[in-house]
Amino acid sequence: MGIADGKRALIVGVANEKSLAWSIAQELRGQGAEIALTFQGEILEKRVRPLAQQIDAQVVGELDVGNDDQIAKVFADVKQLWGGLDMLVHAVAFADREDLRDRFLNVNRINFGRALEISAYSLVALARAAEPLMEARGGGSVVTLSYLGAVRAIPNYNVMGVAKAALEACVRYLALDLGPKNIRVNALSAAPARTLASSAIRDYHTMSHEVEERSPLKRAMKPEEVGKMASVLLSDLSSGVTGQTIYVDVGYNIMG
Ligand code: NAD
Repeated sequence: MGIADGKRALIVGVANEKSLAWSIAQELRGQGAEIALTFQGEILEKRVRPLAQQIDAQVVGELDVGNDDQIAKVFADVKQLWGGLDMLVHAVAFADREDLRDRFLNVNRINFGRALEISAYSLVALARAAEPLMEARGGGSVVTLSYLGAVRAIPNYNVMGVAKAALEACVRYLALDLGPKNIRVNALSAAPARTLASSAIRDYHTMSHEVEERSPLKRAMKPEEVGKMASVLLSDLSSGVTGQTIYVDVGYNIMG
């Protein structure tokens, strides 16, 4: 018996085997869920399809979260496949590489808007599309991935920190709107992990080393720890939890 037995989960944000979304997909599958994945563009499709096979997941299609038609198509396909949806994982973020290595002050209007659109607004767009499918199942759970840079000024995280602050605020307002339909929305704030996205951040190694040195657990976070907590937040084990940002960071955020 797994905590996700009989549940159906759409996971957005698998790029390769290092993706935090992939850790979530593996754990959820192990806990009994049926999984559907999307991919962003043809290059990543080649990475995502073999991974999907490993866990018997469906690939419901291409999804650039900046494209409303693709969002509509993916959710129409999920409806056709399952008739409803229990779990949605949003593990998507984007900022221009230059803005993760320059002074925050220098971010331009277009890049600022783009980072917030792809990294924060997209959660709203996906949650809205998921709402009727989750309602059809009597409720559901949405999880997004955040980082401490939402609430602290972390060198080089810059506009992505602003986007994560917006994302965590979106979580609270979505929780308020969707709560009456028994749909919960939470953020999981993870410690640094070596992925495609984090490789764009200058001095990523310093961020990651600092966690190993100074966190209460004195080690790095393991990606599977994100998978485990996400599975709890997505499952009925956390039925009384919504609108929260839960830290999976080996305790680093408590340190002064
Ligand atoms: P990743 O590169 O594996 O995943 C990022 C995903 O975002 C990719 O699958 C990419 O295709 C997707 N994406 C970007 N722009 C998109 C768009 N326009 N449409 C659709 N998809 C798009 O890296 P990751 O580190 O696993 O990132 C997943 C989430 O975890 C992100 O929100 C990231 O900010 C967050 N996070 C990462 C870390 C870390 O250190 N790696 C720490 C805390 C939070």
